[in-house]
Amino acid sequence: MSQQKLLIIGAGPGGYASAFLAADKGLDVTLIDSSPDLGGVCLHRGCIPSKALLHLARLIAETREAKKWGLSFGEPDIDLLALREWKDQTISKMARGLSTLCKQRGIRFISGHAVFQDSHSVVVSGNDVVKFDKAIIAVGSRPVLPGQFDIGSPLVMDSTGALQLETIPKSVLIVGGGYIGLELGSVYSAFGAKVTLVEMAGSLLTGVDADLVRILHFRIKNQFEAIHLNTKVDSLRASGNGLRAALSGDNVSGDFDFDAALVAVGRSPNSNGLGLMNTQVKTDANGFVIIDNDEKTDDPSIYAIGDVTEGPMLAHKASHQGRSAVESICGVNTNFASRTIPAVVFTDPEIAWCGLTENEANEQGVKINIAKFPWGASGRAATLGRNDGQTKLVIEPDTERVLGVGIVGPGAGELIAEGLLAVELGASAKDLSMAIHPHPTLSETIMEAADVFFGSSAHFYKR
Ligand code: FAD
Repeated sequence: MSQQKLLIIGAGPGGYASAFLAADKGLDVTLIDSSPDLGGVCLHRGCIPSKALLHLARLIAETREAKKWGLSFGEPDIDLLALREWKDQTISKMARGLSTLCKQRGIRFISGHAVFQDSHSVVVSGNDVVKFDKAIIAVGSRPVLPGQFDIGSPLVMDSTGALQLETIPKSVLIVGGGYIGLELGSVYSAFGAKVTLVEMAGSLLTGVDADLVRILHFRIKNQFEAIHLNTKVDSLRASGNGLRAALSGDNVSGDFDFDAALVAVGRSPNSNGLGLMNTQVKTDANGFVIIDNDEKTDDPSIYAIGDVTEGPMLAHKASHQGRSAVESICGVNTNFASRTIPAVVFTDPEIAWCGLTENEANEQGVKINIAKFPWGASGRAATLGRNDGQTKLVIEPDTERVLGVGIVGPGAGELIAEGLLAVELGASAKDLSMAIHPHPTLSETIMEAADVFFGSSAHFYKR
């Protein structure tokens, strides 16, 4: 029997994870990306560069904080060139690693722009035709730049431009209080820029539980120059050597000058320019490729995964979907359960959650109990000088099953893994309470949140 030919368009975390699994399963795999390197947005313009810079931001904040613990460092001397080199080297090392993994698996990698000419072939960069039995669309997404910000000025950045870190402007306007605006705002603020963040909605990180967001907001409002909620940027124009923004909102209105602006108001799927009209693949009104639970599109030979499909735009969602699509292509029955996709905001403090959130439960009318453990009562948090965190469990009253977990505090992104397993495995609050957690660690806050649910946490007395 001849090998099944699988074509994957897009070599981001969705595309390369699918390609690697498919090759391991013995399929004949071709992977195409318009860029010469593997890794997609996540590696080159997203997760990895932003987290590398956030690591430095955290380091700067910690050295400043250490002063009150009796340890003084001087103000950081930032060598922007060396710093960029370190970030870029980290990225290229990882890209080389992916390329080696690709070669080791015998995957054919083609650098070029793919356009479907029918349901079984694509043209690459207008030249070569690649035929396939099955294809996976993993073309990702790009930043949205609404008209009023598209003024042709290099001072107006999207996330890709901001991550280049060409200079550190004295003042920067961040448009959008989602995770990208907050993370990059934290980076620029740590490097010395005066950051003003403007968000149209009434809170940062719209949709995330308010008690988690409040703790982050409280801390970063002292780092940022200003955070304006319920506020719009009506216009942005070049002015002198900088930019002038007209703001209107609850507590602010008028013209304000900035040296640069970062627009982080969302991303849109890369479904255009892909020749989808030559296939039976359908997109929704926002351009997301429509798929079923097995990542199958309306075209029987084509699947789609990652940012180009509906749902959270997250790297781990893309790679999980990719693996699930490959299983489906190989005839294994999979079902992608999106309720358990964890999310992490890598600010300081971090916010992480998984499963059912308190907001979702309220919106859906699901009866829940909430158990919260404040980090003010955690020994480990005290040793870190950070008592501003909180761990909370969303629990099903009748079964005591853990439906969701939300954590805010340093390292929340790592801690959420335990919550994720609890939700995935259907653990009960008793399971979390009875599992002996190592002391002193922040993971104890998960156990003690469960203890709070049963009315007796050792370190947090609640009548
Ligand atoms: P992408 O990574 O977008 O890759 C798609 C690839 O397809 C690209 O390489 C592109 O060149 C290629 N392509 C597009 N069209 C074609 C075509 N026609 N032919 C050939 N190739 C094509 N997610 C997290 O989980 N955690 C984070 O901490 C995180 N931080 C982020 C920070 C920032 C600043 C940004 C912007 C994003 C962040 N994300 C994060 C989101 C994450 O990067 C995306 O969810 C993820 O990259 C999506 O993966 P993907 O495989 O769907 O597509």
